[in-house]
Amino acid sequence: MQLYPFTDPAAGAPRQIVAGEGAWVTDADGNRFLDAVAGLWCASLGFSDERLARAAYDQIRTLGYYHSFKNRSAKPADDLAAKLVEMTPGSIARVFLACGGSEAVDTAVKLARSFRIATEEPGRMKVIARTGAYHGSLGMSASLTGMGYVHDGFALPGGVVRVGRPHPYRDKHPNESDRQLADRLARELDETIRAEGAETICAMIGEPVMGAGGVIIPPEGYWPAMREVLRAHGIHFIADEVICGFGRLGTWFGSDHYDLAPDLMTMAKQLSAAMSPVSAVGLSAEVADALDVQSARLGTFGHGVTYGGHPAACAVALEAIRIHEEMDAPKVARQKGEALGALLERFRGMPGVGDVRRLGFIAAVEIAPDAGFGGAEVGAEAEARGVFFRIIGDTLAMCPPYVATDEDLRRMTDVLEASIKACR
Ligand code: PLP
Repeated sequence: MQLYPFTDPAAGAPRQIVAGEGAWVTDADGNRFLDAVAGLWCASLGFSDERLARAAYDQIRTLGYYHSFKNRSAKPADDLAAKLVEMTPGSIARVFLACGGSEAVDTAVKLARSFRIATEEPGRMKVIARTGAYHGSLGMSASLTGMGYVHDGFALPGGVVRVGRPHPYRDKHPNESDRQLADRLARELDETIRAEGAETICAMIGEPVMGAGGVIIPPEGYWPAMREVLRAHGIHFIADEVICGFGRLGTWFGSDHYDLAPDLMTMAKQLSAAMSPVSAVGLSAEVADALDVQSARLGTFGHGVTYGGHPAACAVALEAIRIHEEMDAPKVARQKGEALGALLERFRGMPGVGDVRRLGFIAAVEIAPDAGFGGAEVGAEAEARGVFFRIIGDTLAMCPPYVATDEDLRRMTDVLEASIKACR
């Protein structure tokens, strides 16, 4: 029997999914569900696709596996790296390939630390991360994830400095404006860095919009203020684009929307429209050049995984990027996001609802603390009505596939309304 990830064993047998088409999936009993979150924020082109299947098939018939270790490489991996350098923000000059988001995050931190070894600042090993962030569940990525149950007690790697999340609905002080919240968080970042010692910190990691922490959209002015503090202290910025990348916020990357110019960035999920396990880390020229010097000194770059740059996984990613480009994924996210936003308007001020938020094609409705019911009850009602939302505490998150239809979006919001009313 499978040991199920992120699953409460007391919750009973899982619902087994056997097929999918568009934004819909079918379970083993033949029930159909509209998935408002594209699985785990990833199946941007829906749950089955002829072109992506063909890309995997053709590649496996030609070259089903080769690695990129020790002066070898596979063509799809080189092609994917070149494509990603071309389409990522201008600061990104090189790309390392891995298999999933957690691996990408662990890799990015190792690269950020390698830079400090190369520049002879070996004391700069700490990484700043935020409360409520999700960066993965492996070694360093689990440590960085700002949710205690992912790392507490597992003796995972240390060196994490925690700062607050930019959550206007939850964390604003009384009478504080959005702008004042942004300035306060930047001030707190500066104070934290001074208290720890900038000479002990290599990087900060952040999702442009926090996804699994509850679709937390930072207030106006937050990212410019945060970036200014980091630059003043010579601290690199790692943009975790695992959810925001490939159009989701209405630009190709969250870093484009917020003009983050990251020194490192992680990509996964929609990189392959979730149809192959592939991830990537982008590096700035400054970081890449320093690593070249360091690798030359050591004789090799001591990092890599067997399936990093897997030809079939990369061929699928290249085809997914082609489809995303043909459809103009950022434009689709803007247009469908606006349609979803219009449908969500009626939730503002609805009894039991505390907050409604959206940017591009990612959105959330948060149940008010005094509603008398919680997100779990609403989510269960919605599932009984045939729609999966991602339940994060009292937040019901939406990150629909780009192929979701207007009718799908209407159904999603109608079911959400009916589910909230059923809980009242
Ligand atoms: N980073 C972010 C922002 C994520 O949302 C996730 C997964 O949800 C990860 C990293 C980890 O990715 P994976 O589950 O592919 O290891």
